[in-house]
Amino acid sequence: MTKRYVLVHDENKCIGCQACNVACRSENNVPESVTRIQVRIEGPHGNFPHLHFKYNRVSCEQCENAPCVTVCPTGAAYVNKDGIVSINEKKCVGCLYCVAACPYKVRFINPETRVPDKCDFCKETRLARGEQPACVVVCPTQALTFGDANDTSSEVCKLIDTKTNYLKKVELGTQPRVYRIPSRKGGI
Ligand code: SF4
Ligand code: SF4
Ligand code: SF4
Repeated sequence: MTKRYVLVHDENKCIGCQACNVACRSENNVPESVTRIQVRIEGPHGNFPHLHFKYNRVSCEQCENAPCVTVCPTGAAYVNKDGIVSINEKKCVGCLYCVAACPYKVRFINPETRVPDKCDFCKETRLARGEQPACVVVCPTQALTFGDANDTSSEVCKLIDTKTNYLKKVELGTQPRVYRIPSRKGGI
């Protein structure tokens, strides 16, 4: 059966340590001036002494209906059969339409390769070796879960089915694939 890779970020478990960011940079040779993922620490929210922070993962949402793919004039930006939104560098003409079209502002020009770059769930590195994405493996609190949403016995399916979750900017019709379990202390 075709895979449909998704990621779940449990904002209750996240502590904002940025280990995911560091591991991603190392695994995928991401230059210092850009990031494929970061976790924005928002807040504090609430009243002293009951303050809390919100941990907002910012990375490619692997949209099923991806604006970056729709606008690409050459097919360089495409959705792979496993659902991972990918880039064929050989077909890219550097028009930057995809960077402008991404409503999540997570697509950037890699200053070394000079082509668009973004999170691809470590497709070329770790997934190719049968391993989980670097951010998932390094997370010290198991806040990240990755897997195939077409496999009903997978951990991601169990989480999505049993935990309250939300997706970013669903009103745009992009059908993102990064699910978020909201903090019980904050709103969504
Ligand atoms: S490594 Fe885990 S706990 Fe740390 S910021 Fe990333 S998701 Fe949150
Ligand atoms: S989040 Fe942006 S870069 Fe990622 S698939 Fe969606 S439109 Fe494309
Ligand atoms: S910069 Fe490359 S990948 Fe992006 S829209 Fe233009 S041709 Fe497609």
